Amino acid sequence: MVGHRMPECGDLIASIQPKLQQVFMTKQRVQIAAATGTGFMEASVRCTVNKKVLNCVNGAFSQRMAEITVGNGKANEVYEVEWGQAILPEPVAERLVSGQFDAVTIAHNETSTGVASPVGDIAAAIRALPNGQDIIIIVDAVSSLSGAYLPFDEWDLDVLLTSSQKAFALPPGLAFCAVSQRAMAKAKTVPNRGYYFDFLDLDKYLQKNQTPATTPVSLLYAADVQLDHILAEGMTARIARHLAMRDRTIQWVTGKGFKLFAAPGYESPTVTTAVNNLEIDISALNKFLRGHGMIISNGYGNLKGKSFRIAHMGDLQLADLEALFAAMDTFMENER
Ligand SMILES: *Cc1c(COP(=O)(O)O)cnc(C)c1O
Repeated sequence: MVGHRMPECGDLIASIQPKLQQVFMTKQRVQIAAATGTGFMEASVRCTVNKKVLNCVNGAFSQRMAEITVGNGKANEVYEVEWGQAILPEPVAERLVSGQFDAVTIAHNETSTGVASPVGDIAAAIRALPNGQDIIIIVDAVSSLSGAYLPFDEWDLDVLLTSSQKAFALPPGLAFCAVSQRAMAKAKTVPNRGYYFDFLDLDKYLQKNQTPATTPVSLLYAADVQLDHILAEGMTARIARHLAMRDRTIQWVTGKGFKLFAAPGYESPTVTTAVNNLEIDISALNKFLRGHGMIISNGYGNLKGKSFRIAHMGDLQLADLEALFAAMDTFMENER
């Protein structure tokens, strides 16, 4: 291990930074924290809000963002749609035009339901409002970034945050977050931004290729290598691979007679949620799959037993999914 204030560590962060910028499709610095994505969820409302947040909720993780907003003492209003539905541009813009909000939160990829919301269209609708430049757009892309098209600069987003352990296929413990100049300028006007996740302090250190507190050096080495792998594949090819895995998963799920939980047209590129309308025993299925070195996820929260989720993100390939589907076919034939 090198010390986190040694030049070797600065070199490591300097090596990672331009690669992260390519994955986030941004010229802004991408903040790095010894945390998971939830840390930056907290930072985003803590550092950029003076008035009120519109929390768009369509599942468990966007719901968490509303809880985080309240937990940090910020005023909020929840705009909730039925789980399985996407957040759409018009109703969001309609609510934001009043001028009472200075930020909006959206989960790009609701991992609990397998729904991807059209963040680019939502951002465009917000920026087209008379007060569109005053709104901080906060996007949770924990389970989609690096596996989905999320161009931070082109879409004019303000905060785009993610964790290392999902589509990046890294160990848990690192969080990454792009922050716009608009959000940085806003942060200067916000009191009580906290200490560990203060965007201004994080950025001050990042300009010197450091982090304010100790950085998880070993995880940064892993990130440096994995970012090389990601960029060697290329973002275009990587995004296309995720879409191909999504389409194949949908084909298997619907071919078996399961219904999709996600509203048509908003199926996530990284995780597919199937309605368990055939009432298979998901715990038994997972026990069987474990014996073959695989596992899927049960439905989230009160969707447990009523749905199941198949992840297709990170380093997985179509061949891995074929192996999974073959095993699931075997299980289902034997169960009947
Ligand atoms: C997993 C997840 C989170 C929480 O991420 P942590 O890394 O556990 O903090 C937040 N939002 C979404 C959409 C997720 O999938």
